[in-house]
This record gives sequence, structure tokens and C-alpha cells, in this order.
Amino acid sequence: MNLYSLLESGFPKDRDTTCLEVPNGRNRTWTEIDQGSARIAQWLASLSLPLGSRVAATIEKSPEGLMLYLATLRAGLVFLPLNTAYRDSELDYFFGNATPSVVICPSKSVDWILPIAKSRQVAYVMTLDEDGSGSLMEEAAHFNGTFTTVDLSDDALASILYTSGTTGRSKGAMLTHGNLGSNASTLRAYWGWSSDDVLLHMLPIFHIHGLFVGVNGALLAGAKMIWLSKFDAKAAVQSLPKATVMMGVPTFYVRLLAEGDFTQEVCQNIRLFISGSAPLLLETFLEFRERSGHTILERYGMSETGMLASNPYFQSEGQRYGGTVGKPLPGVSIRITGEDGQPCKLGEIGLIEVRGPNIFKGYWEMPDKTREEFTADGWFRTGDMGRFGGEAAGHQVPDDYLSIVGRGKDLIISGGFNVYPKEIEGFIDDIPGVEESAVVGVPHPDFGEAGVAVVVAKAGMTLDANEIQSFLKTKIANFKVPKKVVIVKELPRNTMGKVQKNLLRDEYKAVCL
Ligand code: AMP
Repeated sequence: MNLYSLLESGFPKDRDTTCLEVPNGRNRTWTEIDQGSARIAQWLASLSLPLGSRVAATIEKSPEGLMLYLATLRAGLVFLPLNTAYRDSELDYFFGNATPSVVICPSKSVDWILPIAKSRQVAYVMTLDEDGSGSLMEEAAHFNGTFTTVDLSDDALASILYTSGTTGRSKGAMLTHGNLGSNASTLRAYWGWSSDDVLLHMLPIFHIHGLFVGVNGALLAGAKMIWLSKFDAKAAVQSLPKATVMMGVPTFYVRLLAEGDFTQEVCQNIRLFISGSAPLLLETFLEFRERSGHTILERYGMSETGMLASNPYFQSEGQRYGGTVGKPLPGVSIRITGEDGQPCKLGEIGLIEVRGPNIFKGYWEMPDKTREEFTADGWFRTGDMGRFGGEAAGHQVPDDYLSIVGRGKDLIISGGFNVYPKEIEGFIDDIPGVEESAVVGVPHPDFGEAGVAVVVAKAGMTLDANEIQSFLKTKIANFKVPKKVVIVKELPRNTMGKVQKNLLRDEYKAVCL
């Protein structure tokens, strides 16, 4: 079934009610979302692209951006959202790998994005700005607001999400209509979504969290969203009294706690605070409960898989344990395996492997990588380390609760965004005068974790830490740029010659605090 048809089955009967509450009088009703997406879908259909063609969007968050996502689903094309912070070398790679037929970008960026798109044979480059202006909506306005959503099988591709690779470049996770639909349906029941809900939506919509967990969840429930372009603690405090559900990365909760006006009264209509995308510190979990009277529900998932595990919403299912990510969601299987491939005992730490209808189809154009990440018996290797049961945050937790204890891949999660050290090291090592570098994640009070680059100069050369940072800002998205660069004489190595990143993490653990 086309995911849009599933989502639409949840739309409220009265479609003239508000679907998106947007600042500055830009509210949208359900009818407007439906008709707006129909117009864009008609424009897409008029291009006569083969089903499954990619539509890449590197756009600011807007109601029209949401319509574009829905239109792409409706037209049977594949939505490829890209972080607007990406710079030219990154976009060049994504366009080259995914070969989109259509690219949508802000008009202020078209001058530098158009040549990259053209060099990668992208046929159509259109603009869409935060206020809804730009050539995309101008073209769409020529069509009427009806469109028959293309009928598709569950196995048809709906979206490609790029997740950076630890070795080499980013990989495009191929998610099907069935993957996304099953996850949205599971979460609707598990988190008790209803059409009375109002989701405070402050996450970006180029990432699984804001797009598939947030948007799909609310649309399928027929629930209104308060649509803010980004997180801002003051704006959140103002909107919270009108909301029933808030979703965020741990950083949101840390910043809310730092806001003097964040009180129990502000949260009086909230039924659920959800956190994910990065570990929620126990300290934050406890302080939040004390301050707001609410127990944050922590869940675990990833781009390749959608949501995998969640602390319970309904009390009948159990309690929420800080320091755990809860239980496998209905229909999802999770197992813990040792390095030897054998199942771990209860309480033992091992690799987290998963199976279920929500697990992606594979990496776009990377059959070898896909094969590497699945076991012979069909389980996906998440790369995260965890255990069932045992102790979490000083408590014995029930045997079916999962705790994430670390990451097999040396991923850094900064403010909820993934940063892969290998990619950053590649850019630093290309700087003249650099011998080698190592990027590690260290605790950061605001972002949870931040990257620190430890750099060695070539013999006889001197390096300037600020210049390295400035250079990186021109090459990669800002969130990936290490918050600190330190120049050292040599990197610590083990007898096998591997850089001992654990020593570096330890040595620099306080530099961002
Ligand atoms: P992404 O694909 O960007 O959503 O990143 C997925 C990764 O984020 C996972 O593989 C985990 O390493 C991490 N992650 C997501 N949720 C949690 C959580 N609740 N606690 C710890 N790590 C998490």
C-alpha cells in the first residue's frame, strides 16, 4: 500500500480543521495539505519520470516542504531528504550516488547547487523557500488540487536516507512504503496516538526522527502539529501548553531545563515527552521528572530500521526505566550477539542485531555493504552495543528491557546528529602540512557529545588550530566541524598500530565542558 494512502486513512473526518499550526498566520488545514501535495504530485507526474525516480530535497522546514514529501510518495517517486547544512562536496557525492531526477533547494543556494546538479545530470532543479515561495510552488499552482495516489506494493521504495559510513562515504538506506507504514502503525498503538493529540514539532524534517517518527505518527493519528522551524527553548515553553506530545533529542530536554520559565504548569496538557536519537543522560531524565512531573519515554531506532525499542507508554505495559531504551516494539525482534556470533546470556553486553517488517531493504547501489551488515540468517547488525536486563543506572531492570552501552562504530552523536570521525579525518588529512589526525567524541554540556580533532603536523611544518576549523567550515556541514582542534606531536597507538582513541577520549574529555 502507498504510505500516503495509509496516512490518509487516519486524517480526521473534518478536513477543514487545522493540520499544521505555523507561526505568522501560515496555518494549514488538512484539506490544504491534501490539495497542496496533490498539486505538487501532478507537477511531478507531468515530468513523466519512471516510478522510483529520486526527488532530492535540501530545503528549510516549511508546510510546503511537508507537502513535497507527501507529493513524492503519492507520485510513486522516492524522497531523498538532505540536511541543508551540507556543502558542495557532500551534495556532489549524494547527487552522484543517488542520481536524483529532481532537486529542490532554497533560492539563496541555487547559484552554487545548480552547477553541481547539472554536472550530475539532474534534469530538474527547482526552488522552495521557508515562506513557501520559489519555482516549485509556482509550477504546482498550475494544477488543480486532486491527484489519485499511485497504488504501490509494500516493497516499493519510499525514501532514501543517507547515513554516513564509518569507512568511506555515506550509505543510502532504502526504506520501503511497507517499512515506514508498519513502523508508523506500531507506534500509533504503542504510544497511544489519537486525533486529540497535538504534537509539538521542532525537529528537522530531513532526518528519520522529525520526518518518519514525528510527521508520520501525527498524520496517521489525524493529530495536529505545532510546526516550528527549529528548536528554541523559549518558543517551546510558549507552545507547550497547547501540546499533548513533545518529541526531541536529549539536547532539547537539557535546554528546556535551563529555561527558568519551564514549569509544571507549562506542561499541564502534555501526556507524553519522547526522547531519542542519542543517549539521554540519567541526570537529565531524573531532573526532568523532578521539575516537570513527567517521566520522559526514551526510545531507540536508526535510519536503517525505524524505531526498534521503546519504554512503555501505557502503565499496564510496565514502567519507564531511565538509562534503558525499553522493550522491543511489537513485531520487532532484537538479539544480542557476542563477537563470536553466539547469543549472549542475559545481562551480557554484545552487538545488537534486529529483524522485523521495519528493517530497510539495503543500501542504495551498495550490495556488498548491504551483505556485510546482515547476518547469514537475515538479522541487521545495528553497530550498537547493548544488553538485556542487568543493571541500568544503578537499578536492576526487567529482563526484556534493552540498554545501549556504546557504539561498535565510533560514531559521535552531537546534538542528535551523527558525525562519523572517518569522514572528518579525511578532510583534515588533505590539508597541506597535516601528517595525520584522529577525531573523537567527548562530553559536551549542550550537544551531549562533540567532536575533538587531534592533529599531527608534518615534520618541519606548523599548523594553526583555528585555520583548520575555518577550513573545515567551508567543506562540511557545521554540525560536523570539531568544536576543538588540538595540535600534538604524535597520536597514541597500540602494538597493532591502531590509534588508541580511548586514550584520546580520556585525555580530552573535559575540553568542551
Ligand atoms: P540515526 O540513523 O541518525 O537515527 O542514528 C542512529 C543511531 O543513534 C543508533 O544506531 C544509535 O547509535 C543512536 N541512538 C538512537 N537512539 C538512541 C538512544 N535512545 N540511546 C542511545 N543511542 C541512540
